[in-house]
Amino acid sequence: MTFKRLSEYFHILENTTARNQMTEILADLFKEAKSGEIGKIVFLLQGRVAPLYDAVEFGLADKMVIRAIADSLKADGGEVTKAFKGSGDLGITVEKLKGNCKTKKDLSVGEVFEILSQTAKAGGAGSQETKIQLLGKLIVDLDPLSTRYLVRIPVAKLRLGFSDMTILDALSWMRTGSKELRPEIEKAYNVRPDLGFIAETVKNSGEKSFENIEPRVGIPVLMARAERMGSGEEIIEKIGRCAVEPKFDGFRLQGHKKGDKVKLISRNLEDVTAMYPDIVAGIREQVKAKEAILEGEAVAYNPQTGEYLPFQETVQRKRKYNIEAKAKEIPLKLFAFELLYKEGRNLLLSVYEERRKELEKIIEKGEVILVAQEEVVDRAKRLEVIFQDAVSRGLEGVMAKKLDGIYRAGSRDFNWIKYKRSYAGKLNDTVDSVVMGYDFGQGKRTAFGIGDFLIGVYDEKQEKYVSIAKIGTGLTDREWKEIKKRSDRLKTKVKPKNYEVDKIMDCDIWIEPEIVVEIRADEITRSPVHTAGRIMGPSKSGSAVEVKEAGLALRFPRLEKFRDDKKPTDATTLSELWKMLQRQMKK
Ligand code: ATP
Repeated sequence: MTFKRLSEYFHILENTTARNQMTEILADLFKEAKSGEIGKIVFLLQGRVAPLYDAVEFGLADKMVIRAIADSLKADGGEVTKAFKGSGDLGITVEKLKGNCKTKKDLSVGEVFEILSQTAKAGGAGSQETKIQLLGKLIVDLDPLSTRYLVRIPVAKLRLGFSDMTILDALSWMRTGSKELRPEIEKAYNVRPDLGFIAETVKNSGEKSFENIEPRVGIPVLMARAERMGSGEEIIEKIGRCAVEPKFDGFRLQGHKKGDKVKLISRNLEDVTAMYPDIVAGIREQVKAKEAILEGEAVAYNPQTGEYLPFQETVQRKRKYNIEAKAKEIPLKLFAFELLYKEGRNLLLSVYEERRKELEKIIEKGEVILVAQEEVVDRAKRLEVIFQDAVSRGLEGVMAKKLDGIYRAGSRDFNWIKYKRSYAGKLNDTVDSVVMGYDFGQGKRTAFGIGDFLIGVYDEKQEKYVSIAKIGTGLTDREWKEIKKRSDRLKTKVKPKNYEVDKIMDCDIWIEPEIVVEIRADEITRSPVHTAGRIMGPSKSGSAVEVKEAGLALRFPRLEKFRDDKKPTDATTLSELWKMLQRQMKK
């Protein structure tokens, strides 16, 4: 397929908002693509040249792209900058400049992909010039519409408005003309979240199933998540005899070991190996397997007293500089609780008891890696005692695990149940929300330039962010400054396409969905001005649209912490919020 043809699809997709329509257009594109090509196309659709978990970034700022445009089209840099300021879009700027220039070559998707990969991978001295030249060469070769989409890729502005999930739907549609294969494809994706690989596999698998794709050491497995429950009785009723472990308040790590090589992956699939040399050494020494994938919670402790430290201290280890010194000052321990893979054996489909047995076998006693203690219980009373004990030791609560549950990569279900200590309020769990925008400050906070900020949750059905609260109090000065600083890096000119916000809640500044904050609130209430779960319909006279059912909102929301380990799509979802509301009503 030529890149020109792909750009025609980009163009149609850019002008489509309905998700079902997008799915069908993508399915047509995937049908038209050859195998060997489709994997590259799905990356390009996301504005990337590698899977999301691979930290391949272009390292091209707007200014450099402006230079690539000016140099390659022999235009004046000042003029290009002026045109860019006017339209706010480098894509439109280059397309107009190219005007009716001839396309030099009909480059294929593969050729453009290759040059973009080289652009992203160029490093070291002189690499900026190399990047500018490579991009410039493509600008010269391609037709105007293609250049529009080409330059949006390295500056991360392609934004066609759909997620990986729509691509999975479209892959199913390509094969069957419906979404029937989506669950199966999604299962494969959860084990190997490499969309390129998945697209090629679905395209080429013929009648074969791709459900049992195996994990591979070095490639993250999407982490399993827990459902919530509020008493030992409920838990025993739901899953019967189960293993109960402490719920540690640190951060989750997935460790991949191959020989002496160890890689650490965070909850949002970031490669964090360099940040935690102590855990890397611990896995190297204590995990007695050539190949293994394990998971655990890393918690900091005081080396003098041996006491475990609260999350606020543990999180200080997440840093890019001064790593070794901090590792000595605040060492970590990893409480291992899962084994997903061992010596060529996929354990995802093995039951919990089996995985746990294997985990205990491969971890040698030592200082850094400890197997999380567990107790198998069948009585609610005993579960309550363990829970109370955990809480009295300052832990968050307990995790109950179904003995015959498999490891469901990327899913949240009752194979794991979290039972956290209740707080004073009615709502016994926090809500991970996405910051959508902010308003300028008034009064005392004029100095900060931020008076409040809007938060929302992810509505996975619509693939949109819907609002649940505006927060204007309760933050420390430092937190206000922090949220402003982070937000300003993500400013957008207009409200993002995937935000659904009532006019009344409009913000002075809109930002890209990226910052995830953990919010504690007294309860979930209903509000006509928030769009989470809100239903609109025609008014009685039929001449206007009005609120038929109020949305969900948070009462007295407070910022608990920044959740840098979560992607915005990992934030609390709308359906989880409904479940939390139901639980709250039962209390
Ligand atoms: P979630 O991961 O469910 O989206 P979250 O990140 O907000 O939610 P919690 O709701 O606090 O986290 O609970 C799940 C997390 O608890 C796991 O991701 C893991 O980091 C942590 N955890 C602590 N102890 C355990 C344990 N024994 N078994 C599994 N997870 C544990």
